[in-house]
Amino acid sequence: MLWKPVIGLETHIQLNTKSKLFCSCPLNDGDVPNTNVCPICLGHPGTLPVLNQQAITSAVKLALGLNGEINKKTKFDRKNYFYPDLPKAYQISQFDHPIMYQGELSIDLPNGESFTVQLERMHLEEDAAKNIHSDDGQTYVDYNRGGAPLCEIVTRPVFTSSTQAKAYLQELRTLVRTLKVSDGNLEKGQMRCDVNLSMRAVGADGVPLSPVLNPKTEVKNVNSFRAVERVIEYEIKRQTALWEAGTPPLETTTRGWNDVKQVTESQRTKENSAEYRYFPEPDLPPLDLTALILEVKRSLGELPPNKRARFVSEYGFKPEEARQIVEDPTLADFAEQSLSELGAWLEAHPNITSETMPEHRFKAMKTFVSWLLNKLPNALDTAGLHLKTARLTPENFAQFISLLVDQKLAAPKGLEVLTAMIIDGSSPTQVAETLGAGGVGDLSTLIQLAQTIATNNPKEVERYQNGEKKLLAWLVGQLMRETKGNANPELVTKAWQAVLGE
Ligand SMILES: [Zn+2]
Repeated sequence: MLWKPVIGLETHIQLNTKSKLFCSCPLNDGDVPNTNVCPICLGHPGTLPVLNQQAITSAVKLALGLNGEINKKTKFDRKNYFYPDLPKAYQISQFDHPIMYQGELSIDLPNGESFTVQLERMHLEEDAAKNIHSDDGQTYVDYNRGGAPLCEIVTRPVFTSSTQAKAYLQELRTLVRTLKVSDGNLEKGQMRCDVNLSMRAVGADGVPLSPVLNPKTEVKNVNSFRAVERVIEYEIKRQTALWEAGTPPLETTTRGWNDVKQVTESQRTKENSAEYRYFPEPDLPPLDLTALILEVKRSLGELPPNKRARFVSEYGFKPEEARQIVEDPTLADFAEQSLSELGAWLEAHPNITSETMPEHRFKAMKTFVSWLLNKLPNALDTAGLHLKTARLTPENFAQFISLLVDQKLAAPKGLEVLTAMIIDGSSPTQVAETLGAGGVGDLSTLIQLAQTIATNNPKEVERYQNGEKKLLAWLVGQLMRETKGNANPELVTKAWQAVLGE
């Protein structure tokens, strides 16, 4: 018998609002535990929730980005369960009128194929607090996270491989970052994923023998792309073995991922869904989103697929480069601003004619891409910084590239210069001067070269000094030839003026 996996993903996205979903407690990552709490998020009797407007706006934005069908009339419900991470003993969530009830996300697979992931729903809910299982055997609870706004996005069971699941999560992360509704950092728990997987028998042609899905296993809270891949690979092997041994899973089970042992392990469930006793939240009125949807639609901005296509057609990036850049909106903005500066520099360059422009543009772009995608990330890593926190400006980066292209900055010294620019925000010419990192373009090198040319051509120098001023052009030409055309003509003239004593 042949077996094929059926996989669905439930992803929790933490929205990057300033405050929690129903109170004004701030959401700052890394604050001292249990300092961002108040009577509302601690569920004291007599308190009332107040909906965070920004969270609703972000959720509508995300639903539109997912090409979703939005419930114009939406409401909140109470999901009841008793657990230390939930002081109210219920979570405010959405049951039968979620913000989005249908959507899709197109993804590109590594083999070049495209695939549209059908989405079941997306709803808005408050997060539970964080349980910290300490080495001392105790479990501590940090209520700072309790009440943070989450969007839960549920796919249909459409994936059949770990590669597809990973590509979906990467595209989803790019989307939430581009829309600026979440930082989408998996390591910080801003994106958490539950993997639902079951196996089904298929014929030799890969077509399922029955349309009925078998009981699934739910692996909770997987928090890295790599772990999602491994969970899926592991569950495919584990469940296939169970089916082949004639002892298939007979009911839905919950498991967790043990990253140390690289296995999934059985977990006790809090409740099963029928026992959540959902009922409408009486303290929050139903919402009419009609006006908000129109407003958000107008300001949605460019979505990742369009942005990638534009980066390819407008700037000449390769598709893979565009993918890498658009994945990080800070990098994408930085690249666009730098390229606009670099374009202006090329246009104003005294040595570039409209005929030689394409060639120069190509050369500048090649240097730009190589530094933007390889050396800049490395330099940032080494400095322990991100583009957001570094002091490097797009203007300085564009100038840095222009110096490299004009060979006024020796490439081997480039990384040192760039690192200094990242750390203290200084301009590349400033740093290059301090480090003595000038290429053939720096004045002292040019003066030395001019002196050698003068020594080898005493007659011409004498004629010039006797009044044949036209010969300056010839002398400049000689020096330009010596530098293979890489020097700035203005500096070359200056070098000659110094050598000829003018
Ligand atoms: Zn609070």
